[in-house]
Amino acid sequence: RVKEQGKNSFQFYTPDMNEIVSKKMQLEIGLRKALKRDEFIIHYQPQVDVNSGDLIGVEALIRWQHPEWGTISPADFIPLAEETGLIIPIGEWVLYEACLQNKYWQNKGFLPVRIAVNISSRQFQQSNLVEMVSKTLKTTGLDAKYLELELELTESIIQDSKHAISTMHQLKEMGIHLSIDDFGTGYSSLSYLKTFPIDTLKIDQAFTTNIFTDLKDASLVDTIINMAHNLDLKVIAEGVETLEQLQFLQQRQCNEAQGYFFSRPISAEEMSTVFKEQFLAKIQ
Ligand code: C2E
Ligand code: MG
Ligand code: MG
Ligand code: MG
Repeated sequence: RVKEQGKNSFQFYTPDMNEIVSKKMQLEIGLRKALKRDEFIIHYQPQVDVNSGDLIGVEALIRWQHPEWGTISPADFIPLAEETGLIIPIGEWVLYEACLQNKYWQNKGFLPVRIAVNISSRQFQQSNLVEMVSKTLKTTGLDAKYLELELELTESIIQDSKHAISTMHQLKEMGIHLSIDDFGTGYSSLSYLKTFPIDTLKIDQAFTTNIFTDLKDASLVDTIINMAHNLDLKVIAEGVETLEQLQFLQQRQCNEAQGYFFSRPISAEEMSTVFKEQFLAKIQ
């Protein structure tokens, strides 16, 4: 792109644009090497039954530990990974690691829970997704009923809804649990809820956060829970940070909750301690 600047001077990029472009390029170059260099790790965040307090699931959340740049949050590299297609090998790695970790916890004798893995829309639309998931379950030895896939509804998934429904059915037939992530924001077409064979709606944390500051958000949460239950779906609220928020959700019959109130995402080792404590509490 050539930018005209006065009579005879042409300037290619402004310095700022140059910086942005090269930052993104550096990030992409780094991202391409990250898998081989073993720079990704997974943190785990508990999902809790709001009535019994039982640990019922654990969400796997990727982090990138760059030797020079430090820890990079998924919000800062997952979009680029999607854009470049790198999300395919990265997503495969996350699924494998998370299933293996869950199987490891089960082998230790801890109470079995579901491991919830985020699947980006580009990954979901891969033609070999079902095969890849099935292979991963086989190699890790994890029972399909202990795997949950958190899907995001995007415009492109809705536009090819036939393919999406067929993929979901195949995953459901394997015994995998399906949920819709960030429900209520972005592209959340209500009419698809009755045709998509899903189990759970995950209320976006933006709503949970504003339960007590925005009456409209409180009523939206209430409405989503009622609608989900009418459709025979379970509801999990994300971003629960306070006891008051939890109590609001309990009163509204929300099924499950996840957030800093219970725990931040923690390492596999720290999660093992949580499992151990839960286990000891049960046998006492
Ligand atoms: P998400 O799947 O909606 O995950 C929830 C995000 O909210 C996580 O951010 C989590 O750490 C954060 N969170 C949990 N509880 C609370 C809370 O009480 N308060 C606040 N303020 N935040 C809370 P994180 O780990 O930075 O991940 C951001 C997003 O990156 C995820 O949103 C997901 O869309 C994406 N992501 C993370 N890991 C993966 C992955 O392995 N594959 C794919 N495709 N996407 C991933
Ligand atoms: Mg998620
Ligand atoms: Mg979310
Ligand atoms: Mg998300």
